[in-house]
Amino acid sequence: MRNIDAGSAQRHPDHLFDGIGRRFEYLRLSLTDVCNFRCTYCLPDGYKKPCNRPAELSVGEVRRVVSAFARLGLWKVRLTGGEPTLRRDFDEVARSVAEIPGIRRVAMTTNGYRLAERAQAWRNAGISAINISVDSLDPARFAEITGHDRLREILKGIDAAQKANFDSIKLNAVLMRGVNDRELEAMVDFVSSRDLSLRFIEVMRTNDNAKFFAERHVAGQSVIDRLQALGWARLPRQPGAGPAVEFGHDQAKGRIGIIAPYSKDFCATCNRLRVSSLGKLHLCLFGDAGIDLRPLLQSDDDERDLIERICKLTSTKAPAHRLHQGNSGATPHLASIGG
Ligand code: SAM
Repeated sequence: MRNIDAGSAQRHPDHLFDGIGRRFEYLRLSLTDVCNFRCTYCLPDGYKKPCNRPAELSVGEVRRVVSAFARLGLWKVRLTGGEPTLRRDFDEVARSVAEIPGIRRVAMTTNGYRLAERAQAWRNAGISAINISVDSLDPARFAEITGHDRLREILKGIDAAQKANFDSIKLNAVLMRGVNDRELEAMVDFVSSRDLSLRFIEVMRTNDNAKFFAERHVAGQSVIDRLQALGWARLPRQPGAGPAVEFGHDQAKGRIGIIAPYSKDFCATCNRLRVSSLGKLHLCLFGDAGIDLRPLLQSDDDERDLIERICKLTSTKAPAHRLHQGNSGATPHLASIGG
């Protein structure tokens, strides 16, 4: 094992590996589990606040947890949720993460509801990559899926993001059988003429959506087959790339990626860890309950212990999820950890 040796805690390694040699460079940090949308596959009845819900990580706690990961060589952070931009201090959090030595890229994932007015401010706060969820380009279908008739605003937001000069803009679309899977060609057309990437995401089964998943899941391979029939070709894997399989077309400006967690060897290229808005480390989106880091986020003096804890826990990461056995771990829905 290449991680820190518990007996020699004076030094810490420059890189973070698990027990089977996967290196982690990417942290997905949830800023809140609250979401204002009611996506049918995630929070169909809307967000329900649990009794006695603890406060979300403060700006100081966020800074400490990200600094510890940065010392272990993680250089990319994605701010997600829930809907991360519901946090009033979102810009401040983004700015403080972007200032942490070693962090080279701060990304965010949003449903885009504030994008049209805030894109430039987020870019100025240090966010350089943005993923926007757009499950349909048809206003009525968009409203059915998300519970919000806001497609027009979100499309304006995408224009604003393009003007704000993000290094990377990706649209996330979850394809669902009999809901929006016929829109694949329209979505492909949309990115063909724009300098944008599109990510098709397979519906993932979580604890709360088993019936929905059984009815609506579309296998990633069938999406790949359709893209290839449209002349899209697989692109070589970039070093350090995550699990998305990328496609390009010589007459298209945009690119397309497929995130297919049910495909063979999906976990082999896993390069990411997650921390929830309550400070729990999740080694896998579909793992067991998160492990609390928060007691070690209260003072800068605890950094060494925090780093040691992260190393030890990461070394125990399971080689693969258990989705194929129908086991989606302890995750009720992705808003709870940060999708
Ligand atoms: N609120 C933000 C948003 O809408 O993008 C960020 C959080 S959301 C949980 C992040 C991503 O996870 C979105 O692209 C969403 O479509 C995706 N997602 C949520 N639940 C999912 C599921 N069960 N299967 C596949 N993707 C899911």
